[in-house]
Amino acid sequence: MCTDEPGADPLLEDDEPAPAELLQTGGKSIFVLTADHAGRAIPRRLRDLGLGPAELETHIAWDIGIAGVARRLSAALDAPLILQRYSRLVIDCNRDPAVESSLARVSEHTRIPGNESVSTRQASLRRRSIFDPYHSAIAQMLESRAASGQPTIMIALHSMTPVFKGLSRPMHTAVLYDRDSRFARHVLTALRREHGLVVAENEPYFVSPATDYTIPHHAEGNLPYAEIEIRQDLIAGELGQSQWSERFARVLRAAQQEFAGWAIR
Ligand SMILES: [Zn+2]
Repeated sequence: MCTDEPGADPLLEDDEPAPAELLQTGGKSIFVLTADHAGRAIPRRLRDLGLGPAELETHIAWDIGIAGVARRLSAALDAPLILQRYSRLVIDCNRDPAVESSLARVSEHTRIPGNESVSTRQASLRRRSIFDPYHSAIAQMLESRAASGQPTIMIALHSMTPVFKGLSRPMHTAVLYDRDSRFARHVLTALRREHGLVVAENEPYFVSPATDYTIPHHAEGNLPYAEIEIRQDLIAGELGQSQWSERFARVLRAAQQEFAGWAIR
């Protein structure tokens, strides 16, 4: 709820959930997991942004399958997880609110009617109601671990559509990073040991302050990190979500061991 501006209508009604869902908050793992695009809820007041139910099930609204992978991975690793429940079309929690793609007017080929004429005040309300509480939850988690001397490696989890603007994506998974590749390179090494996988490095995306927010804001220059993408057709169902969470539990543990060895040398 957002009631700090006198006379402002809150974006979220009392019975609508908070943006951040936290799991395993006391987890002992070195990893903290985030999933910026885990959910596809839309605040009732935004009337589905003018989109139909079929459009709101597609990848333009959320990262299909990643919540199921993230929950299982969090449990397997005993790692804190911060999931974001609202659709990326309401406000993209992995974009600086100052960049235009924070409130997408068109996503892939779909026009988003509810984003075509958003006033500065409405944009600010979306930020204060969804973006800020989610990123505060991440910041608080990181601060409390730092205060108790618990080291952290941050893992940002995403999923990608198998076909984008008519082009099929051959990679099953991808590891992305910007300036600090210290941990990402160990994730890449461990993933490339897995059988039969096409693993991409900084493709089809890379991490940058213009295209991301979570890693640049919370991790870059502060914590080791990796951003992970998994292709959505592989994790749309529960079987795939189980298999990929098991795979990433194995891969992240191996990467952690190799990273610790590297850090000591
Ligand atoms: Zn995403």
